[in-house]
Amino acid sequence: MPPVGDLLVRRAGRIVTNNGDPVPGPAAVSIRNGVVAWIGPDERVPWTITDAPELDADGACVLPGFVDPHTHALWAGSRREEYAARLAGESYTGGGIASTVAATTAATDDELLDLAAVRLGRMAANGTTTVEVKTGYGLDPSAELRLVGLVRRLADRVPLRVEPTLLAHVVPAGVDRSAHVAALAGLMPLAAAAGARWLDVFCDRGAFTVEEARSLLRAGAAAGLGGRLHAEQLSHTGAAGLAAETGCASADHLEHVDEAGAKAMAAAGVAGVLLPTATLSTHGGWDNARVLRDAGVTLALGTDCNPGTSWCESVPYALQLAAPLLGLTVPETIRAATAGGGAALRRPELGVLRLTHPGDLVVLAAEHEADLLAHLGAPAVRTTIVGGVPVSGARTIH
Ligand SMILES: [Zn+2]
Repeated sequence: MPPVGDLLVRRAGRIVTNNGDPVPGPAAVSIRNGVVAWIGPDERVPWTITDAPELDADGACVLPGFVDPHTHALWAGSRREEYAARLAGESYTGGGIASTVAATTAATDDELLDLAAVRLGRMAANGTTTVEVKTGYGLDPSAELRLVGLVRRLADRVPLRVEPTLLAHVVPAGVDRSAHVAALAGLMPLAAAAGARWLDVFCDRGAFTVEEARSLLRAGAAAGLGGRLHAEQLSHTGAAGLAAETGCASADHLEHVDEAGAKAMAAAGVAGVLLPTATLSTHGGWDNARVLRDAGVTLALGTDCNPGTSWCESVPYALQLAAPLLGLTVPETIRAATAGGGAALRRPELGVLRLTHPGDLVVLAAEHEADLLAHLGAPAVRTTIVGGVPVSGARTIH
């Protein structure tokens, strides 16, 4: 559950707000009752707000907290053997999910919550303040409903903003496809009641077809679940167009998106979530950011944290890949990881530091946001703040 507090961050070397030009340092930001109350030059901090706990940024750059709109952070077990096999030359087609489903099904609720909480703790240490968490390693409807409940409990346990998503992942082996789609459609109202905000469908080769995904997204919408779509990752299917047609908030991966799909997404206001760590491990293409940008699609970046293709809890690592490989500029990269994530989750108040918005920010271990991208593998984050409360890193003074 996101905390609510008061904090005065002083002596920032620079503050990137995503609301106009960066504020040059030394600069300060005040958070009151969890929301941004003042941003400006350090020397002009109003005396009325100097009674809050203080955090000395010591010349470091301050950004809005990272908004990671795509993770599968709730699982048990390891996929190390699959990883090794892939390095030995086998191609990934989604076949390894069964081992994670078996381990997740065998784990107790407390074991799953503990594993996920550790992962979200690492995300917080790397600057993430909002994270979307999908189910998807239960597969059968009752197991997926259990995982929705666990994501909801996880959200209550960790000091981050958590967006719970029901994921229609793949059809279990030996199960009739149409019966499974119908059972998942019937699950939607229960998932919404259990705390899911979103329905995501894995629409690709080896997963659900465009037609199946369409019927699932319609059932989700009828139950009040917003739509998201794993689209055009392993093959071109036309899923980007489906995301536009069904009013999804985002289409994600998109390595094989074409110009028509990108234009449809832009016209429908569907954000494009790029997941460079997954692209790296699946040997996908890197041209999608250009196609999406040329079409005018809002870009977001995430970790796709999952045990099979992207075991990554670090948005900074994803950004360090994204900038050179996807051909993004520094401002585009930073915006995609902050305000872009907010757009992908239809939470426009996230990822933008302005008055009355949530006081979620990250004090970098760097003087400038370009250093975050250029300094490969270095510790990236000094302090992560959610709702005006440090949740990772340095403590306040005062
Ligand atoms: Zn995914």
